[in-house]
Amino acid sequence: MRDLLPSEASARELDARDPLRALRREFLIPKRGGSETIYLCGHSLGLQPRSARRLVDEHLEEWAKRGVDGHFKGRAPWFPYHERFRKPLARLVGAKPREAVAMNSLSVNMHLLLASFYRPTKARFKIITDAPVFPSDLYALKSQLRWHGFDPKAALVLLQPRPGETALRPDDMESVIDREGPRAAVLWLNGVNFLTGQAYPIPRLAAAARRRGIRVGLDLAHAAGNVPLSLHDWNVDFAVWCSYKYLNAGPGAVGGAFVHERHARDARLPRLAGWWGHDPRTRFRMQLEPRFSPQPGAEGWQLSNPPILSLAPLEASLALFDRAGMPALRGKSERLSAYWWRLLGGLGSRIEMITPADPAQRGCQVSLRVRRNGRAVHRKLEEAGIVCDFRQPDVIRAAAVPLYNSFHDAWVFARTLLRHA
Ligand SMILES: *Cc1c(COP(=O)(O)O)cnc(C)c1O
Repeated sequence: MRDLLPSEASARELDARDPLRALRREFLIPKRGGSETIYLCGHSLGLQPRSARRLVDEHLEEWAKRGVDGHFKGRAPWFPYHERFRKPLARLVGAKPREAVAMNSLSVNMHLLLASFYRPTKARFKIITDAPVFPSDLYALKSQLRWHGFDPKAALVLLQPRPGETALRPDDMESVIDREGPRAAVLWLNGVNFLTGQAYPIPRLAAAARRRGIRVGLDLAHAAGNVPLSLHDWNVDFAVWCSYKYLNAGPGAVGGAFVHERHARDARLPRLAGWWGHDPRTRFRMQLEPRFSPQPGAEGWQLSNPPILSLAPLEASLALFDRAGMPALRGKSERLSAYWWRLLGGLGSRIEMITPADPAQRGCQVSLRVRRNGRAVHRKLEEAGIVCDFRQPDVIRAAAVPLYNSFHDAWVFARTLLRHA
């Protein structure tokens, strides 16, 4: 088996020719026993950009030096701090600047936007989503249904793979959307599924749903910073994401949300309001401003003044995305994945690749089903200095992130797996 693996030198050679290789030095790679780990866990917690600490320190300094004046003074005053994220976020998710905002966290944003966009009637109340469903999404969807008086058993429709298959077939997804069309209120779709790593054809599915009068919301937890997105052109209604996975903004980082501009000024949309969503020109008039007047766009859904210290690392990370550009990152991601798939092909039937082989249907994550001793195999990977994760009952997930992973990282993972699986 091992003979099928190309040489270590050939992996190093691919790295030497990688035009994005310098970006790796912008990140802090965790060490174990004095040497760098092979970090393949960016799908769970992205690495710390070196520049993150400086930006956090800068806000601590401003706070120490200026106190409350830091809201309006300094390089990056706090009152408008979230506005700095408009353009980089818009570039990242394919939005117009006023369609994207950094705020709260994913599950909170999901509830806030469902409060506006899930408006069920007796006739049209179902929510359709892709399985397997991430637990927070499942709890949130079920609680939304119950909140509006519906029984999740009848009102939550799961898009499931066919028996014996692990990926969803877009044709099947579209038939369910067709079938449920008149009764469905929202399609809640992941950009990339957290467990299988499958990337869905969003433009096609979003168009199918919209043709039937279904609103489309996306969970981009595993898609933002991983695959190219064009939320505005895809015409989805709303989307949310977190920033600690591929966006490298640190544990519990501030998440993000998108609201399509066609909803930007729709006063009929009900929403749960807070002062940071209010027009910034009159926000600090406080008690003199009893009527909520939302600013147009996604920022109108903000509630609180943002946690500046946990926003700062996102500024550092988005600057790196802008330095590379999503097209170049996707280019490297495709080369890296193609290489990885070739190496893992040597595993034969001992391990089932559950992430689709079709490059259009995957990002940089690979999910492997290890039927026997999955946990022991994962432990062997850990012992070899590899950081990836194991999800019960039998799935190992690993991601080769184009910002900081190398062809050599992929090679070490494949070699270790070939030895132990
Ligand atoms: C990571 C992830 C979340 C995390 O939710 P938080 O509110 O950020 O804790 C939610 N949904 C999906 C699909 C995820 O992958």
